[in-house]
Amino acid sequence: MNNQSHITDQFGRVHDYLRISLTERCNLRCFYCMPEEGIELTEKKNLMSHEEVIFIAKQFVELGVKKIRLTGGEPLIKKNIEKIIRELTALPINLGITTNGILLDKHIDLFKECGVQDVNISLDTLDREKFNKITRRDYFERVTKNIEASIKSGLNVKINVVLIKGVNDDEIIDFIEYTKNNKISIRFIEFMPFDGNKWNTEKVVSLDDVLSQINANYQPHQLIKLEDKKNDTTKNYRIKGYEGSFGVISTVSNPFCDSCNRIRLTANGQIKNCLFSSSETNLLEALRNGEDVKSIILKGVYHKKKVRGGMTSDNEFFDKKNYTKNRSMTVIGG
Ligand code: SAM
Ligand code: SF4
Repeated sequence: MNNQSHITDQFGRVHDYLRISLTERCNLRCFYCMPEEGIELTEKKNLMSHEEVIFIAKQFVELGVKKIRLTGGEPLIKKNIEKIIRELTALPINLGITTNGILLDKHIDLFKECGVQDVNISLDTLDREKFNKITRRDYFERVTKNIEASIKSGLNVKINVVLIKGVNDDEIIDFIEYTKNNKISIRFIEFMPFDGNKWNTEKVVSLDDVLSQINANYQPHQLIKLEDKKNDTTKNYRIKGYEGSFGVISTVSNPFCDSCNRIRLTANGQIKNCLFSSSETNLLEALRNGEDVKSIILKGVYHKKKVRGGMTSDNEFFDKKNYTKNRSMTVIGG
């Protein structure tokens, strides 16, 4: 039996934030996330059942996890999602969800009832045609309507925008203007390399690129730097007088590994101690074999590498033979 009450790695970083991928499947096909040819799905019997998700989450909570975020694939297509949300919100944690927004209207009441406040919705463009090209599906109206409904219902809405040069970097100011009358937070995410997503450094729009567009469009006194919370991966700003805010998640140009407190659990029950780690710890198999899940969690996180899955230099990180070892985002759980 393990009496440790914190999950700590070899560098002393305490891990109290768990992101659970509920499914590898998705109702969109965003080109930067899903390879065009699709992904090979894990056999159903090797995926966590709803009961296994809850059991494993409880072990993490007993080890000090305070915040859980559900993601995927698309978490809202998971069978039993309602039960999962009800059972997780009964634990002493803050539960958030990251979704593409297509099925949000069916779940807003449940979120309100269970106290799920933090909803991150992905929307990479404000243009319908472009949305169809990026996601390879025609759901723009549904997603934008659901974003409006979520804001109206009082949820804490963040919009995730993956910036890709030549695709949507001409919409940065439009997204910032969206915060003028809406109490939302726009989060510009740097495009990250994964297996099969046709990444290259030239396509990355960095924090500096975003700031230079802002400087060209607003007066210096209009840009207000907000205080970033501890462990926050976003550098946050507001335009003076605007209701909402925006930020940049600079995983590529300026990683935030020093303060990392995150652990990922994939839909097939593997711990990924870093988004960029190519090694995983099989928790589901351990659970099914009756092993002590907690000590396996502690060991799996203890060996986490200092930065970006062990790719210390930018040269290593940008090297295709390294990042293609990593499964795509829809499988890992973004
Ligand atoms: N389906 C849900 C959604 O789209 O919000 C949850 C899963 S998705 C993998 C989680 C987040 O990862 C999304 O905001 C998505 O835009 C982001 N993402 C996917 N691939 C990415 C990449 N290559 N670089 C940066 N962000 C990425
Ligand atoms: Fe699906 Fe989200 Fe990946 Fe888009 S980013 S394909 S919505 S999992």
